[in-house]
Amino acid sequence: AYKQGLGIYAGNFPVRIDTDVSILHYPQKPLVRSFVYDTLDVHPVGQNVVLAVLPYEGYNIEDAKVLNKGSVDRGFGRSSKFRPYTSVELNYAGGLKDEITIPEKDVSGYRTEESYRFLEEDGIVFPEAELEEGDVVIGKVSPPKFLSEAREISIQTRKENSSAVRQGERGIVDAVFLTQDREGNKIVQVRTRELRIPEIGDKFSVPHGQKGVVGFVAPEDDVPFTSSGIKPDIIFNPHGIPSRMTVGYLMDVLAGKLAALSGEIVDATPFSGEEVENLEEGLRKLGFRENGKEIMYHGITGQKMPVKIFIGNMFYLKLRYMVADKLHARASGKIALLTRQPIEGRARGGALRLGEMEQQALVGHGASLLLKERYDSDKVVLFICSKCGGLAVDDKIHNKRVCSLCYSNQVEPIEVSYAFKLLMEELLGLHLLTKFELKNKYE
Ligand SMILES: [Zn+2]
Repeated sequence: AYKQGLGIYAGNFPVRIDTDVSILHYPQKPLVRSFVYDTLDVHPVGQNVVLAVLPYEGYNIEDAKVLNKGSVDRGFGRSSKFRPYTSVELNYAGGLKDEITIPEKDVSGYRTEESYRFLEEDGIVFPEAELEEGDVVIGKVSPPKFLSEAREISIQTRKENSSAVRQGERGIVDAVFLTQDREGNKIVQVRTRELRIPEIGDKFSVPHGQKGVVGFVAPEDDVPFTSSGIKPDIIFNPHGIPSRMTVGYLMDVLAGKLAALSGEIVDATPFSGEEVENLEEGLRKLGFRENGKEIMYHGITGQKMPVKIFIGNMFYLKLRYMVADKLHARASGKIALLTRQPIEGRARGGALRLGEMEQQALVGHGASLLLKERYDSDKVVLFICSKCGGLAVDDKIHNKRVCSLCYSNQVEPIEVSYAFKLLMEELLGLHLLTKFELKNKYE
């Protein structure tokens, strides 16, 4: 039902191999739920928390949330992320075969002895092994692809073809499965798990669409408390309410408070569920204010807050998007062969784009030397005919620079970025004539 929420996605998850799945460790049913929820009776997604509507030192501005460190330590939002590794022992033409084993040192592409340290004699990691990036999960050697290739190397060297933990990742071996395909080839599947404790940047939401990331995990001692000593698990910023008008959210918090205090589930079915008046009446009977507000005390100074705070219970979902999967930085690295621009994508160790808006920001700051450094880093020199504006040929053999259109030798060098040179050449390839109008830089 909740697409991005973490929970138990399938009852048989321990014996499954799925890509990109997580399990929430302590999932709960909502205290406030509808007839539809109970009818569908799906696996639980999310947890019931105590929520205070309150700013907190600016750490929950722009939809951010402040989490109570104590709640996190007690297991709130804790999940495990699974990752599958699969390797097949294939048969090739000419009786050649893959072999799942610990690779010998003489195979081409041998990693390091250390990276194979978790492999047992069968070439597969053992359950509960704590793997770091680069550690081999399934060891495999493959025969050389082509016969001609094998002849050239004279000795038939086999290729290292193991599955290893990807860069920047880690995991504990959770399960190992051995099967075979229809042709009888051996299949090894390994599933790793990684503990994910909520941290700054992880995304949380409620069923009303009030989503946001964690801005701060506050020490429990510093979290504001009520006169009865209740500390919220989540501190939610009140500015998220007026513009979005999610009134149901406020009713949900109020209903959740009554449910938690009375120990009874509140029916939130539209049109037929509990009326707000009854929720208020219920709270009043339990000795609380009917509007859900309470006197609270500052967690650090202990001072009584000058206004009453709206506090209650809410159903929160941990969403699939976690910073641990997004964290990325690079100094220098790979570039694309064609454009000579840095490659894109976290998985391939790509660069972070300095786009037009970032460029504008640097202009605004007057950081001209930084701009020059960024944009002139791949400059090339083109020779332009000053007579007709066409591209000239730089003939290094005869040490001559001649315009290929009008054969003039009045040629000037200009500096352009490599990407611009590429554009010129692609336009040339389309039979489009491009001309330059040269001007003196110092006029
Ligand atoms: Zn010319």
